[in-house]
Amino acid sequence: MSRKMQTAVVEQFGKPLVLREWDVPTPGPGQILVKTEACGVCHTDLHAAHGDWPLKPMLPFIPGHEGIGLVAALGAGVTNVKEGDRVGVPWLYSACGHCEDCLAGWETVCAEAQFGGYTRNGGFAEFILADPNYVARIPSRLSASAAAPIICAGITTYKGIKQTAARPGEWLAISGIGGLGHLAIQYGKAMGLQICAIDIDERKLAHAKLLGADCVVDARAHDCIAEVKKLTGGGAHGVLVTATSLGAFKQCVGITRKRGTCVLVGLPPGEFPIPLFDVVANCVTIRGSFVGTRSDMAEALAFAADGKVKADIELQPLSAINQVFDRLGHGDVPSRVVLDFASTWT
Ligand code: NAD
Ligand code: ZN
Ligand code: ZN
Repeated sequence: MSRKMQTAVVEQFGKPLVLREWDVPTPGPGQILVKTEACGVCHTDLHAAHGDWPLKPMLPFIPGHEGIGLVAALGAGVTNVKEGDRVGVPWLYSACGHCEDCLAGWETVCAEAQFGGYTRNGGFAEFILADPNYVARIPSRLSASAAAPIICAGITTYKGIKQTAARPGEWLAISGIGGLGHLAIQYGKAMGLQICAIDIDERKLAHAKLLGADCVVDARAHDCIAEVKKLTGGGAHGVLVTATSLGAFKQCVGITRKRGTCVLVGLPPGEFPIPLFDVVANCVTIRGSFVGTRSDMAEALAFAADGKVKADIELQPLSAINQVFDRLGHGDVPSRVVLDFASTWT
């Protein structure tokens, strides 16, 4: 009889996850089995469970792409990790390794890429199958729960900030100070930027100040754009949009300085209007950014291992996932919930 594990499964879009047993997978050639210690809960998991995006995962599936654990078994031919290594199983679960994007160091946009907790089962489970060529190597100074948010929220904001091309001393505006945004503030400060934090929730703005934001602005204020322009002396050189509502996106284009770059990272379903004249006449760049590569991952983790970036986490058991999703959907998670497997199922 096969071994069983506890999981939280999306069986139908828009319905609560089902807590149930699932067969522990056996690693095939070139795969590894990871015993989960911790897994962060990203707003992307909520989009996945709602079937929000054009490319939908096949039902049923196990979400979770901030899973950290110890390598428990190796499939045939695996030589680059060993049993007991601590690894993370990220959103970029695997890529082909030989297309023009992979060769250019852009494996995140590989057409063959698989996504953890989306097109492959993820970390809301006691064990995760992974591709050893794409797992994150967790520095020994980081605990599993401290590392979990770094492998999605951390890498995504770190890469997104790099994509703004803002230079030390310049302004970075961050819209959305949740799981991603609270790390973005810390990466931005560590990279020498001045930070303007924007959210619709006073608690998030107060937290942003504690994390070192140089100024905070309420996105609901009717003069939000004018306020950011005043505080930053003409608009932010770089803007990172992690917000989960479409209204934030047009606003963020408006707060981008002339010749600045607005990087879109948040993924609420839908489209947003672009004020064409302003974008053209001000030579504004609008670009999307999708997680990060394996070298971005190593860099993002190094910031955390050096203590320059620290996720604020709330530990919860896997069995609380539906309450956590409810709170995340209502903006009631202060920063990041991490599912703690050590205390729950062992
Ligand atoms: P979260 O729920 O923890 O945080 C979202 C924050 O946005 C909250 O603080 C909320 O108050 C704020 N917000 C909502 N509406 C706003 C508005 N109009 N203006 C300003 N702030 C607003 O979510 P998260 O886990 O940080 O994820 C954020 C988004 O990023 C999600 O859409 C997620 O799917 C996406 N994401 C994208 C990538 C990528 O690679 N591009 C990676 C991870 C997550
Ligand atoms: Zn994520
Ligand atoms: Zn490829």
